[in-house]
Amino acid sequence: MSASCEGGFSLLALSQPALLEVFASLTEMRDSIALSLASKELWELGAASRRRALCCAACHHAVVPDAAAAFSSDTYREAPHLGLPDGDSHAFDAEHAELRIRGAGGPGHEVRVQHVQCGGCGLHLGVRLVQLGSLRAGAAAACIRHWRELQVLGACFLARRYLRLRAPDGREELLGRPLPPSARALYRCTAARSSLRRPGECGAALFEQRDVLSRQHCWDAGGGPERALYINGFRPGAVVERNERQESLCQGEMRVADVHCTACAARIGWRFCRDLTPALDNCNQVGRFGVVRSSIEKDEHAGT
Ligand SMILES: [Zn+2]
Ligand SMILES: [Zn+2]
Repeated sequence: MSASCEGGFSLLALSQPALLEVFASLTEMRDSIALSLASKELWELGAASRRRALCCAACHHAVVPDAAAAFSSDTYREAPHLGLPDGDSHAFDAEHAELRIRGAGGPGHEVRVQHVQCGGCGLHLGVRLVQLGSLRAGAAAACIRHWRELQVLGACFLARRYLRLRAPDGREELLGRPLPPSARALYRCTAARSSLRRPGECGAALFEQRDVLSRQHCWDAGGGPERALYINGFRPGAVVERNERQESLCQGEMRVADVHCTACAARIGWRFCRDLTPALDNCNQVGRFGVVRSSIEKDEHAGT
């Protein structure tokens, strides 16, 4: 490609094929959006390179089918981030997302939110702001000085850690950057406490590094209390659940089930099945899993 740099470089001086090449060379969607927004022509030319769906990391359901439109919306521009207990979150219009939204919070709360769940698997993904003091979502602006607050009222804030961007070819990305190879590192079963296989002889692929949400948990899977990882999900079919029951955990009353490796039957962790706290403080954990350290081994060389 060639373009004259005299008097400043103009992208629009490039031919259409050259511009398409520029778009194809961009690895991050936010760069494609930034370039697309420069002019109407570039918006049309960049359509293919912006095509991404925002998906649930656990079930791959397309939560926001047109991610580029959501990332360039007024809602996202006004309040792109919100810190939540689930980590950094992005703002999206509820109208453009396939989500389930449940009521929560009682009258008298200064800030009221609703729980937002994946429309596919029902896992908690974030919150929807419905009230800020006397301002409610959907209310007409009483005064121009509340304009900014009304922009974010009604918006869903979805936690980055529960989401992935998916390109039309199936390639997945973390939000804002390509997936580093280490994110695909596999964790395999060690067969600790297995009745079918000797220690070290299972090796079943359980989950990947990118599924890990926290390393600060503790659990007894039959070998006494030990350190555990909290994860977004296992590979399909990797585990089976047994023995669902109610337990008093540090975070409150919950229903949990034991999780066993499908290949060697060893008990390796647990699943949070239901939140029994009155205010649903733990609803973000429901449907997610934990796995004890003795049951897993990181396979640095594997990745698919
Ligand atoms: Zn899902
Ligand atoms: Zn196993």
